[in-house]
Amino acid sequence: MNQIAKVCLIGDFAVGKTSLIRRFTESRFSESYLSTIGIRVSRKILQMPDAYPSTLTLMIWDTAGSEPFTTIVRSYYRGARGAALVCDITRAETVTALLRYAEEFHAVNPDVPLIMIANKIDLRSERMVSDEQLGEIAAMLDAPLFFTSARTGENVEEAFRALGLSIIVKE
Ligand code: GDP
Ligand code: MG
Repeated sequence: MNQIAKVCLIGDFAVGKTSLIRRFTESRFSESYLSTIGIRVSRKILQMPDAYPSTLTLMIWDTAGSEPFTTIVRSYYRGARGAALVCDITRAETVTALLRYAEEFHAVNPDVPLIMIANKIDLRSERMVSDEQLGEIAAMLDAPLFFTSARTGENVEEAFRALGLSIIVKE
């Protein structure tokens, strides 16, 4: 049996949302900014462990992401069963921004599970936020925290799988 679920990637401009989706769905990475025009939906089928429906198809919604909270954003969030809130460890302001995104997302989809992704972990020398600061925000979001690199692929699969499992468990 297959289930299908919409999930959203949310976060500031250039944190790596499009790169994470591309890494996860196409196993590719590009150094250049992947300009996202409008809304793009990518699909990936996850094999689930025993005792779950056998597969979960994630419909992963991506946007340019810098819009204020408008009707467009609300319709982008509508019907989502989970979200990944993405920040960039080299830009501290992208971390605190997640609190507002979570609030906006939950205003549309109350109680829907979140994960937090601290991306660009390969850029260790440019890191501007501590584990402690990231952990604090993750606790406020009530979201498990994943350190990823879309560049190297580190933890990307694990983060999306965890999001998928949190959705399917909730059923
Ligand atoms: P979006 O606006 O959130 O969709 O961000 P993009 O996916 O377009 O990425 C913005 C920039 O960050 C691009 O130049 C990417 O190549 C780069 N980038 C994304 N993820 C990583 C990462 O994990 N490590 C590094 N070093 N660069 C990344
Ligand atoms: Mg993008």
